Amino acid sequence: MPAARPPTSRKSAPSHFAVIGAGLAGIACARTLLQAGHRVTVIEQSGSVGGRIGTRHTPFGSFDCGAQFFTVRDPRFQQALDTTPQARRRWSATAVRVLDPLGRVIEAPRPELEPHWVGAPDMEALPRAWAQPLVDAQALLLLTRVDRIEPDALDANRWQLRTSGPHETAHVYPGFDAVLLAMPAPHAATLLERSRLAPVFVERLASVEMAPCWTLMLAFPQALQPGLAHLGPQWNAARSTHHRVAWLARESSKPGRGPVERWTVQASANWSTEHLADDEPRVQAKLLKAFAEVTGIRAQPAHAEVRRWRYSRTLRPLGRPHLWDPQVRLGLCGDWCLGQRVEHAFVSGLELALAATLA
Ligand SMILES: Cc1cc2nc3c(=O)[nH]c(=O)nc-3n(C[C@H](O)[C@H](O)[C@H](O)COP(=O)(O)OP(=O)(O)OC[C@H]3O[C@@H](n4cnc5c(N)ncnc54)[C@H](O)[C@@H]3O)c2cc1C
Repeated sequence: MPAARPPTSRKSAPSHFAVIGAGLAGIACARTLLQAGHRVTVIEQSGSVGGRIGTRHTPFGSFDCGAQFFTVRDPRFQQALDTTPQARRRWSATAVRVLDPLGRVIEAPRPELEPHWVGAPDMEALPRAWAQPLVDAQALLLLTRVDRIEPDALDANRWQLRTSGPHETAHVYPGFDAVLLAMPAPHAATLLERSRLAPVFVERLASVEMAPCWTLMLAFPQALQPGLAHLGPQWNAARSTHHRVAWLARESSKPGRGPVERWTVQASANWSTEHLADDEPRVQAKLLKAFAEVTGIRAQPAHAEVRRWRYSRTLRPLGRPHLWDPQVRLGLCGDWCLGQRVEHAFVSGLELALAATLA
């Protein structure tokens, strides 16, 4: 099969953008394009927006199963946050300490250098609020995975997207002047390779490294018994040097969350990589054991589950805010361009939108 031929370059600014992925980078990018008067279609494979800013709802309360909190350094991120003040709250219980494998403090919490924020009532609230203008403009397609990007069959100057939806229903969306990929680097590389497009971008993507993360979520309603404030340690968040566990946080200490004591435990990048293919019961048992060693909590949880993030944190970023080719009008953004934080995703999405509208 011949390689897909990109549309020829046109002088006028693109007017209909496809943004693939509705994580924070995709949402920031699409909103900026919409505000600038462009037509946008955001296509997301899962049933909700937010990507790695995820919330798991259970009968015992919610868990922030992806990003735990965010910090704000870029004034443009601050400005965007100020447009939806109700969607975030400060998490003051974040004097984060470092623990040895047995849960002893080896590094005392330092005075908080910058505020830690969480979405309210859950982490997903922020992407949900920011995606609302896209929903209002009927610009968001959920449960739709993009399988291939190719030249539009009816207009060689545009792109079309081959997608699959629930029950593998196939569809072709034509008529895009530009296509922007807002997804983890390895997913972007696979999509471009499958579409036989942008080999130079694929090469750049190969330099990016992302680590997986197994996440354990636990609920202990027994801590609501009279006279028992909570189980185990006095602290609410800690980094750990246990070989299995990198981070532990008491979800119920976050503002506006339910009262049932709940913990989220993130496995270390090394351990998650080594155990990536393990089955869930095995991972759950091992992480539960490590949790007991670090916190001293040996009570049986009423709720326990694990979630595997195949691409979680960036270990080696691209080192520039986005990739954009004005000739073929293809672009890429995501946290991995700049780093591993929620704010990096926002800045990358914003900067790609600015570059693509200047082209
Ligand atoms: C366990 C964990 C803990 C974290 N903790 C923190 C933290 O405490 N603080 C912090 O600042 N950051 C944290 N992060 C990182 C933070 O979540 C990310 O930096 C940020 O959410 C990335 O946003 P993004 O839009 O770049 O990518 P994503 O959120 O990954 O969004 C990409 C979207 O693209 C969609 N997609 C992919 N392929 C396709 C396709 N072919 N078709 C359609 N849709 C597609 C995906 O479904 C997804 O919704 C954490 C991440 C994880 C996983």
